[in-house]
Amino acid sequence: ILISLDGIDGVGKSTQILRLADHLGRLGHDVLCVRDPGTTDVGTRLRELLLDSDLTMHRRTEAMLFLASRCEMIETVIAPAMAAGKTVISDRFLLSTVVYQSVGGEVSPQQLWDLGRLANGAVAADMTILLDMPAVDSMARIQGPADRMESRGVDYMESVRQAFLDQLPHASGTTAVVDAGQGPDQVADQIQIAMDDFLAS
Ligand code: C5P
Repeated sequence: ILISLDGIDGVGKSTQILRLADHLGRLGHDVLCVRDPGTTDVGTRLRELLLDSDLTMHRRTEAMLFLASRCEMIETVIAPAMAAGKTVISDRFLLSTVVYQSVGGEVSPQQLWDLGRLANGAVAADMTILLDMPAVDSMARIQGPADRMESRGVDYMESVRQAFLDQLPHASGTTAVVDAGQGPDQVADQIQIAMDDFLAS
């Protein structure tokens, strides 16, 4: 199975992915964690390009590069892992591209779902967990220099948050929204409850 954790910057995805991986490991799953964009050599190079604050590019160009990175990760890492019976947890997946690359208007969410499904081939998320909290709070948690998306500011990130909530129902498989404004233990508990429900279904 393929599980994706998603949400705006600063919601605590990295921490919660480790917690979820532990939980699934205890349940007997052989877990592999991946990061989108990233993970493969091609993906890591594309990630550097995409997050470079000195670069500007058209939203569709940007979308295509995110899709290319994901395509490479699916074909060389995710699909083989799933075929070997592993449970894959991805830090972001197609939903992020639909959301981030449509906010601002040049490309529609529907176009991005269509292009994204084409680029993803036979692989789709079985479960998507959206970590949700107000952008003012999530942005306050971010430390270090802002990357290209983060430097667009709180109002931009709040529109991204709304787009996540709007687009989540269109994601493949099961979806869940978790309030990421709580403490890390409470967030981890909520994610486990959603996960256990999914596994029992
Ligand atoms: O969560 P992570 O640090 O991997 O995200 C890297 C950056 O890429 C974030 O700033 C996020 O806003 C951006 N991103 C994006 N479009 C995607 C995936 C990530 O703009 N499809």
